[in-house]
Amino acid sequence: MATYNTHQKELLFEFLSSHPDTPYSVEEIARELSEIYTDAPGKSTVYRLIGQLVKNGKIKRFVKGNSRQFLYQFAGSEECHHHLHLKCTACGKLLHMGHKLSESLLSDILGENDFTVEPDSTTLYGCCKDCKIKGGSL
Ligand SMILES: [Zn+2]
Ligand SMILES: [Zn+2]
Repeated sequence: MATYNTHQKELLFEFLSSHPDTPYSVEEIARELSEIYTDAPGKSTVYRLIGQLVKNGKIKRFVKGNSRQFLYQFAGSEECHHHLHLKCTACGKLLHMGHKLSESLLSDILGENDFTVEPDSTTLYGCCKDCKIKGGSL
């Protein structure tokens, strides 16, 4: 039983970590997983397992916009200490900026202002593409 759970937790984590820029609801995760794996966990199992992943910091949970629905997203890895992040204040989505762009931005700031930015504690806040499309409907 324990190994079975571990396996399903791995599927779950693998799925979320391969879509690091996309937040998912439990329903969406269960649906996506069932399309990929024949032994995918059901919704209630996803819900329970994802709670464990949130607890140990591998996945973050946030509330979608001004709804009461929870979304789950990959919490990031070692890589994340080396690039900047963009956070959408409307839906809470966290985007991982590409290393190249991150580095050139940081070196521009350093060049112009003689100021060293710490990438792992720097997040730029704004509005993501999806929320911009929705426009004033929020
Ligand atoms: Zn990152
Ligand atoms: Zn957004």
